[in-house]
Amino acid sequence: MAKRKACKSCHVMTTKSHCPICKSTNLSSSFSGLVLIFDPDKSMIAQKLNITKPGEYALQVR
Ligand SMILES: [Zn+2]
Repeated sequence: MAKRKACKSCHVMTTKSHCPICKSTNLSSSFSGLVLIFDPDKSMIAQKLNITKPGEYALQVR
């Protein structure tokens, strides 16, 4: 299983070498808290984290 990392910019989880949303390569394997966003428009967590696309996100990225 590939090691998962979180994007430092938009917090999305990925196993790739760059972020699938913002294309950033600034990824971190040091994160805490995972949240699944199905409907960003109706999710308070998504709005707080500025998430606009459904997916799995880290709450905190260091
Ligand atoms: Zn990103």
